[in-house]
Amino acid sequence: MARRKLTRRQAWRIEKIQQERRTRAHKRETQLDTQLNEGELGAEQEGLVVAHYGTMVDIEPVTKTSVRRCHLRSNLGSLVTGDRVIWRNGNPHGVAVAVLQRSSELMRPDNHGQIKTIAANIDCIFIVIAPYPRAYANLIDRYLVAAETLGIKPVILLNKSDRIDNDNRETMEQLLLSYRNLGYRTLSISTKSGQGLERLISYLIDCTSIFVGQSGVGKSSLINALLPHANTRVGKLSEALQKGTHTTTTAQLFHLPVGGNLIDSPGIREFGLWHMEPQQVLEGFVEFRPFLGRCKFRDCAHRREPGCAIEQALLRGDISRERMGSLRQILASLESAAGKTSNY
Ligand code: GDP
Ligand code: ZN
Repeated sequence: MARRKLTRRQAWRIEKIQQERRTRAHKRETQLDTQLNEGELGAEQEGLVVAHYGTMVDIEPVTKTSVRRCHLRSNLGSLVTGDRVIWRNGNPHGVAVAVLQRSSELMRPDNHGQIKTIAANIDCIFIVIAPYPRAYANLIDRYLVAAETLGIKPVILLNKSDRIDNDNRETMEQLLLSYRNLGYRTLSISTKSGQGLERLISYLIDCTSIFVGQSGVGKSSLINALLPHANTRVGKLSEALQKGTHTTTTAQLFHLPVGGNLIDSPGIREFGLWHMEPQQVLEGFVEFRPFLGRCKFRDCAHRREPGCAIEQALLRGDISRERMGSLRQILASLESAAGKTSNY
């Protein structure tokens, strides 16, 4: 009995919370309508979303004057960091009224396994690797597949070049060479000594970039080196505005003093492969593309079946053993994550 009562009570509470949410949303929308109708809001202008928090976003005007926290018109859906928008200034909050078309979207599953866009309009993904912790080709391939699937240009960035010695030089050079041979850009830098940073900066100018890679490769050090002054942090709000809003881990957009933008958050740094379909993974291996769809059997799993075009490419040396092994590992990991038995 007690249990049932509790359940009913819980259901009532949930309904009450939802009702309150609906009322709040309706009230907000009505207030926005009033503001719009009574001319309390400024003229429409273009802006850039530099941070997002649930139902609100921080928008920077194109003039780069101070950032304004804004509500969203309910028909907008959700906005993410990097979105270019049309908005109207207001007091204390502005209103985002339209979103411009995204050139790219970065997506990942949230805690409930739902795919969510976490940032938009990214031009370049820097895959950061290092001699220590050791760079694994398989991990690089995961990031490359993700970048290929999203249509965002990847650059393989070897950090800690000061730690290249006679023991690891050949391995690292071979690794980078194998990716250059596939047509990818690679770059060696040292955040510590500053070697290669000028070149990196030339890659960052005029782009919106993200840095991804395993923990310990030097992403924080590098980002701190690129953003030496706290005031380059976009989205830094006045104390008054920050009151009542807890610190967020959503993506933030920063302007690099050298030009270009950087979007960063713990979630972005870990950005990977979660939501890929096996076919997407295959297509994410650029050198495999000419052979896809050319196997004798339509459902070929490319495991030495007769007439397998991928196997033939492997034997001819058009595809490397390492990349083939990497593909199999990625596919197997996706399938084990999905609880299926591997077919590869
Ligand atoms: P993250 O986990 O990728 O953000 O890596 P961190 O920025 O925290 O760096 C991990 C460690 O590598 C720290 O001890 C850094 O001081 C060190 N580190 C970063 N960049 C370099 C570099 O270019 N050379 C060397 N030798 N160490 C570096
Ligand atoms: Zn095949």
